[in-house]
Amino acid sequence: MMDLLRAGLTHKYKVLVTGIRKMHLLKCQAYVDGRWVSASNQSVFAVTNPANDAEITKVPDMEAKDAKDALEAASKAFETWRNTTAKERASILRKWFQLCQENSVNLAEIVTAESGKPLAEAKGEIAYGNSFLEWFADTARHLNGEIIPSPWPNKQVLVTREPVGVVSVITPWNFPFAMITRKVAALMAAGCTCVIKPSEDTPLAALAAAELADQAGVPKGVINVVTTSRKNASAVGKVLCEDDIVSCISFTGSTHVGKILYGMAAKGVKRVSLELGGNAPFIVMPSADLNNALDHAMNAKFRNNGQACIAANRFLIHEEVYNDFVRGFLERINKKCIMGDGTKEGVTCGPLVNDMQAKKVSSMVDDAISKGAKALIGGKFASDIGNKFYESTLLVDVSPDMQVYNEEIFGPVVSCIKITSEEEALKISNSTRSGLASYLFTKDLSQAFRMSQKLKFGMVAINDGILSTSEAPFGGVKESGIGREGGKHGAEEYTDLKYTLISELDK
Ligand code: ADP
Repeated sequence: MMDLLRAGLTHKYKVLVTGIRKMHLLKCQAYVDGRWVSASNQSVFAVTNPANDAEITKVPDMEAKDAKDALEAASKAFETWRNTTAKERASILRKWFQLCQENSVNLAEIVTAESGKPLAEAKGEIAYGNSFLEWFADTARHLNGEIIPSPWPNKQVLVTREPVGVVSVITPWNFPFAMITRKVAALMAAGCTCVIKPSEDTPLAALAAAELADQAGVPKGVINVVTTSRKNASAVGKVLCEDDIVSCISFTGSTHVGKILYGMAAKGVKRVSLELGGNAPFIVMPSADLNNALDHAMNAKFRNNGQACIAANRFLIHEEVYNDFVRGFLERINKKCIMGDGTKEGVTCGPLVNDMQAKKVSSMVDDAISKGAKALIGGKFASDIGNKFYESTLLVDVSPDMQVYNEEIFGPVVSCIKITSEEEALKISNSTRSGLASYLFTKDLSQAFRMSQKLKFGMVAINDGILSTSEAPFGGVKESGIGREGGKHGAEEYTDLKYTLISELDK
């Protein structure tokens, strides 16, 4: 390790020259009841590009009253949308999918501008987001009920699935497009309508998606987008959680905010679908194919600069392969992590999304270093390219008293922890209140089954670093959330089971 340190690894930077061309699909109004509208008090707030802090545009800074108007539009639309046939809903979703496919590059440019992620990654997000539109277009027609053998000769027992009603959709900034399609396509397939409150950092992808939904013929009021600054998020959030119109709250974001929303939902006994923070272990056992593990480690850690709830957070590496793993990781980081403006060819790591996020990452690394961890690469801001660029970092000598050992960092920081046994790997993995994704690298089949069974996580990837797909149920256990997105389960979340007894069939 020290030889690499002495070799003086330094990061490559691509100096930015921002070239945002005029973005097609860039909207600067909110979308309510099929119309593009301003806030009722005419307030606006600026959406900025985190790569250079330049303003992209302003959008309405809506308040509680605007949220209520949007809920009423969604409620009215529900009365007709719920009665459409599954085939009609599937056909509208498919049309929306096609338009999003045709506009993939435009959508990706918006995502890069507002979130900072490299364009190639933004294109990946759009493809991923679109896959949910396609998947739920298909799923709409398979939300079957049941006829259960009746215990009575003259009665039938029917179980049908009914849409829950109006859903409040509150989304984060890290996947500004995909977090919307993953929820909205599912709830629309089930026959529900919604009000979306996108993150204040990234409302533009949501508005662009709404524009394409409008073009696809989604009836007015089925999708509404209410934009709001952080200042108004809690007032708007309160209406979206507590108003009687709302039947379900679908949220992706921090565990902290998720708990606040869950509390508000409880007052009205509302359904919730919560996708909250993770703290994913990335376990490498001695039999693992090390090159494969390292390639996947790069994806699992540095996709979106580590700003993903399923990002690998704690690298638990068996002592037999620890040195080789750390050496290989350092080499890959040095070669592949190229910071800069996401619109530039070759850039793989953009800025952190906002100042709060940048501060959090740097203070967690500083905490670790002050307690004895060593940064073999990185460990500081790349201030020469921008105020939100943090160098891709690899820490060793990480111990349990450090924040990085226990908490999700949500940034480009690898924390390597040496383990000596399967039991120790499981103990450390399961020692937090999070339980979203986990990664396990082993070629020992019995070990793979044994360990995956004992990992208290909603998702386990064995010998892989990317696990999310529209076909599979995504979600966590413990404080990582409630409910599943994707798969057939993703649409079922937005349905209530209705039992109907039909009697007197002999008369
Ligand atoms: P992140 O740290 O990823 O931004 P947050 O949980 O803070 O995660 O934000 C996710 C979403 O929750 C954003 O759309 C944000 O505006 C919204 N949000 C934050 N606080 C509240 C609140 N009190 N009520 C409703 N929504 C909120």
